[in-house]
Amino acid sequence: MPGQTASVPPSATETGATAAISIRGLRKDYGPLEVLRGVDLDVAPGETVCVIGRSGSGKSTLLKCLNLLEEPTAGEILLGGTPITGPGVDADRVRVRVGMVFQHFNLFGHMTVLGNVTAALRHVRRMDRRSAEATAMAQLERLGLAGFASQRPHRLSGGQQQRVAIARALAMEPEVMLFDEATSALDPELVKDVLDVMGALASSGMTMVAVTHEIGFAREVADRVVFMDEGRVAESGPARATLENPATERLRDFLARVL
Ligand code: ADP
Ligand code: MG
Repeated sequence: MPGQTASVPPSATETGATAAISIRGLRKDYGPLEVLRGVDLDVAPGETVCVIGRSGSGKSTLLKCLNLLEEPTAGEILLGGTPITGPGVDADRVRVRVGMVFQHFNLFGHMTVLGNVTAALRHVRRMDRRSAEATAMAQLERLGLAGFASQRPHRLSGGQQQRVAIARALAMEPEVMLFDEATSALDPELVKDVLDVMGALASSGMTMVAVTHEIGFAREVADRVVFMDEGRVAESGPARATLENPATERLRDFLARVL
């Protein structure tokens, strides 16, 4: 639909820098169901992109393709200029570079908070116990969680558990952080805590892609908003301008429902 899509700011590739993430013609089918139907998206180093859209529009599938929890049906994804799709890619090495935070935290219930944060450092990054614990404690301190290190996750509030999940991802020193509705499972009074952590991370220069229903957060924190509709990027542009003045009927309708 010519003229229907908002103009996109110059992509990292257009400005000469290597994109942190570059997605070209990404498709994902589940059997006969076409969930991603040709997604193109560049994320510049240090950029925060919020992905919004109706339930079922393919937002989670897009994030899962970015850290190879799902295998794309077609298309190409590059991380820092290096293809991560196609034959011969080591998915574990890709996942070290891409941290992911899920709606339901996905912490290991039988481990302490410290154990949760050190597990991948020890078993994937092959750190010895002492270095892993030092790295983990530094992250927990940064997120105000040091006092919970020896507790089991279920003793913590949802907001604290989600911050542990963020600390766990950050401890791996990823190039990119993905958030899939990180605050959707939280009691309302705990949402702000986690959004504040995400906002601080965005300000610190982390490259982030966050699927969220928090339109206020997207407007304040994101550099760019991407609106997914039926497996495609239906509109994309600078966060505030796009949310305040959507170019497409589809995004106008969506915002009218969620705001
Ligand atoms: P969103 O995160 O935007 O709500 P999803 O990416 O989770 O959307 O899902 C998009 C569509 O793909 C939905 O119709 C969902 O039912 C379907 N889907 C997601 N994961 C699977 C799967 N593993 N197998 C089959 N269908 C799936
Ligand atoms: Mg989802």
